[in-house]
Amino acid sequence: MPENKKSKRTAKRTDAAKEAPKRTRKTAKAASGTPAETSAGKPAAQAGQRAARRDRAAIRAESRSASNGVRVIPLGGIGEVGKNMTLIEYENDIIIIDCGLGFPEDDMPGIDLVIPDLSYLEANRQKIRAVLLTHGHEDHIGAIPYFLRSFNVPVYGTALTIGIIRNKLREHRLAFIPQLITVHAGDKVKAGVFEAEFIHVNHSIPDSCAICVSTPAGRILHTGDFKLDVSPIEGSMMDLTRFGELGRQGIRLMLCESTNAERHGYTPSERSVGGVLETVFDAHADKRIVVATFSSNVHRVMQIINVSVKRGRKVAITGRSMQAVISAAIELGYMTPPPDTIIDVEDMKRYPPGKLTLITTGSQGEPMSALYRMAFADHSQVTLGPSDVVVLSSSAIPGNEKLIDRIINELTHNGIKVINDSVYSGVHASGHACSEEIKLMIQLCRPSFYMPIHGEYRHLAANRDIAAFTGIDPDRIITADIGTVVELKRGRCAVNGTVPSGRIMIDGLGVGDIGKAVLRDRKHLSEDGIVILFASVDLDARLVLTPPEIISKGFVYLPDAEELINLAKETAADELSRAIESGRRRRQDLETIRERVRRSVIKLLNEKTGRNPIVIPFITDL
Ligand SMILES: [Zn+2]
Ligand SMILES: [Zn+2]
Repeated sequence: MPENKKSKRTAKRTDAAKEAPKRTRKTAKAASGTPAETSAGKPAAQAGQRAARRDRAAIRAESRSASNGVRVIPLGGIGEVGKNMTLIEYENDIIIIDCGLGFPEDDMPGIDLVIPDLSYLEANRQKIRAVLLTHGHEDHIGAIPYFLRSFNVPVYGTALTIGIIRNKLREHRLAFIPQLITVHAGDKVKAGVFEAEFIHVNHSIPDSCAICVSTPAGRILHTGDFKLDVSPIEGSMMDLTRFGELGRQGIRLMLCESTNAERHGYTPSERSVGGVLETVFDAHADKRIVVATFSSNVHRVMQIINVSVKRGRKVAITGRSMQAVISAAIELGYMTPPPDTIIDVEDMKRYPPGKLTLITTGSQGEPMSALYRMAFADHSQVTLGPSDVVVLSSSAIPGNEKLIDRIINELTHNGIKVINDSVYSGVHASGHACSEEIKLMIQLCRPSFYMPIHGEYRHLAANRDIAAFTGIDPDRIITADIGTVVELKRGRCAVNGTVPSGRIMIDGLGVGDIGKAVLRDRKHLSEDGIVILFASVDLDARLVLTPPEIISKGFVYLPDAEELINLAKETAADELSRAIESGRRRRQDLETIRERVRRSVIKLLNEKTGRNPIVIPFITDL
């Protein structure tokens, strides 16, 4: 694309964005004045009739407008936990709900993060009107810094969500000032033909929202991550009234998260964790209590601080993200600990163990985290011992179980007591809806079509069963995958084609520059190691100046393998001499010599060890 055209387009979009936040504060009072009637308990047949009536009305409304369909395209978050991203497209407009990252799998050594494949958006960049964010968890916003490198579009989210993004962007230099726009629950945002409404939900991070998008094919509701908390730590219960109203007005398609769909009943209130923590604190009154939790769970951190204050403990904080989130939360007024409560980690030595709480990151067993380093005696400031008790106020994100087990085993081995949800039920409460809460949402929203999102296939299947149980016709439950185009058209909703999708791997600052070949090399290296060989020659004189020296990493333990390495050196030296002398032309080609030496060494090492290390010869002509 020519440069001038590009900048013109960007400029135009910036102007549009200035007008774009035509947010209308919701008329909350009027809204909650309307009695919301739920259809819970009514026969499914009635719900079916209502759905059919709404379908006919929607078809009439649609036939008056264009005949093109509205396309819903998940680019991540289906069949996986992480990298949530969903597009809604109509003719010349695309909006994006969430832009999250995922974590690498076992077969991706050295990869830090993965983000959704954005090539469909690259190809349709002029259509993108806005990114709307449900909440500030990494799996919903983590890809924003990478996304913004290629797309300068307005990003809408609530205060905490936007605050977290601002913090992140400090580490990522962008060529322009990003358009970050703060909204409140109840606000509506116009973007192209769409109008999106943010609706308050409860979740394990404050300021979370569902998003309801009005489209030419009817309303599409995206629940984001949610749970129903009737006694939240701060703020109100999720806006059930609004969901009920929208349900009565008609929701065409509901995208509902599936994380806890396999679990029966209701998720306990966040508040219940406080009481359990008090019991744990009382049972270990003379010990220093080290609590690991998700740094983004501001309400949990608040409760840990509150219990500590009640029990006369000072609170120290370790872990970069924990410190960042707590200071952001205090700045934004989410947290107001009494003065002198928070102390420096260095100052802990001035207090007895029973007067101290240490809040830390690392509840997922992350090997660079503060908890991991403390457990493996590798933390510069804190050493753990039998006067400590470690509380894991968290649950394992699928895939992290082994890492967490490693920490628990190490701590236990060193005589440190570890308390987690399975030892002491209730030290953690999930942020996701269990089956009864999902049923309640479905009954309030009464969607014509339903699509489980956000989860591995087993979670999606459980969510599907829940929807069918509440009376949604199984034909109206959409099974999608990433890249699937789900089209709403003339009252129908069906899968219609696919777009490119997948994952882009991020290693350090590189985005997408790690391909299959690099991963294969890394795997090869991690399995068989590397052998590097140095030598210098004088090709003109046909002389070996420095005989081969060998270093190796990850192949054999050198002191034990002297004999083998000497043999390799001899083999390399012999081959080197032969190669130098064998040329008919006066001067041999250095590249050929390297290759001959490399092969001779590989052959020897393979014969002697059965392994297949990567061999790199550095042979220089002086
Ligand atoms: Zn979340
Ligand atoms: Zn999530």
